[in-house]
Amino acid sequence: MAARPVDADVLIAGAGPAGCAAAIVCAAGGLRTVLADRAAGPRARPGEALHPGVESLLRRLVPEGFERVVGARHEGISVGWGRAPSFEPFGRDPDGPWRGFQVDRQGLDALLLERARGLGVDVRPSCRVLAPLLDGDAVVGAHTREAGQIRARTVIDATGSARWLGRALGVAPQVRSPRLLIQYGYAAGSCPTRDAAPAIVADGTGWTWTARVGATRYQWMRLDFVPVQRSRTWLPDEFARLTPQGTARAADVTWRLSPAAAGPGWFAVGDAAARLDPASSHGVLRALLSGWTAGCATAAALDGALDPREAAAMYQGWLHSGFEQDIARLAGMYAELGARGFG
Ligand SMILES: Cc1cc2nc3c(=O)[nH]c(=O)nc-3n(C[C@H](O)[C@H](O)[C@H](O)COP(=O)(O)OP(=O)(O)OC[C@H]3O[C@@H](n4cnc5c(N)ncnc54)[C@H](O)[C@@H]3O)c2cc1C
Repeated sequence: MAARPVDADVLIAGAGPAGCAAAIVCAAGGLRTVLADRAAGPRARPGEALHPGVESLLRRLVPEGFERVVGARHEGISVGWGRAPSFEPFGRDPDGPWRGFQVDRQGLDALLLERARGLGVDVRPSCRVLAPLLDGDAVVGAHTREAGQIRARTVIDATGSARWLGRALGVAPQVRSPRLLIQYGYAAGSCPTRDAAPAIVADGTGWTWTARVGATRYQWMRLDFVPVQRSRTWLPDEFARLTPQGTARAADVTWRLSPAAAGPGWFAVGDAAARLDPASSHGVLRALLSGWTAGCATAAALDGALDPREAAAMYQGWLHSGFEQDIARLAGMYAELGARGFG
């Protein structure tokens, strides 16, 4: 039997940090919100070292339960960027030092989803969004594999690197770096030199990140400017005494910006709109902030406070200017190492 079309104010595809933030803001604003994700539920994934700036945003999105997902805290990072490593604090204010933190990503995504559900969001796990529904140039919903058609006044693409809607609408992303593959993995044991703060060490060949992410669990990431084949049990020298947990994995983190990040009836948020490699340290922050901002723009457009095209243009202007600042900063850092083709 064919599934009955679902009607909503907002359909959000993708229940990572960006999609959940958008869903929470839309539902809190009284909008009937559907949040569909192709996965059965939150999964373990990288993206565990969060900048201090994320905390206040997260506490507003999820007023309770935040401490449950927070692991080690750190007041800065050991940075060896073309030179001997030294500790760089995040900064401080009259209340004390700013502290970044490690987070259990699966737990964080589950907490955000639980909050969205608690606000009345219609959460659809195991629901893959397929082709968009179009009315002229406006997006008015989507076909889904499991729930048939979902009609909505606004559609938010939060599908991360899959960038479902941009692809379907034929929006080619601007590629702003050489092709970048990051390798990452985990190891168990004890590495006291890495317990106080994560470290990033870079030279002309690329950079290596090491961090403690649990009581006896450590994470590493390695980005080579020119791809290097490594064994699946490779560990950075610092972790030589640790035991690899599972095998190393790889992800494409080529810098990408969608030239159109919003349009009639739609927004793209998080990695679906703009992606940098993890040295930017802002992936989750950008996902939460863009989800929040697109949610506010959606609410303003749907209650008539803002013309929908104006809302889309404002969101896109905000997203692009923030991303260009991040790009300029990171391209400058890579230029210091002699790496070319970034920016
Ligand atoms: C190795 C690595 C390390 C990183 N480390 C850090 C870090 O330390 N700190 C940091 O801030 N950032 C880090 N990042 C970046 C960070 O993980 C991302 O920026 C962040 O997860 C983006 O969130 P998002 O919500 O946009 O997308 P995602 O978290 O990727 O969520 C997208 C969701 O969309 C769903 N989806 C995809 N296609 C469909 C479809 N067709 N229909 C329905 N659902 C769909 C997926 O199942 C997924 O749940 C790292 C990234 C990598 C690759």
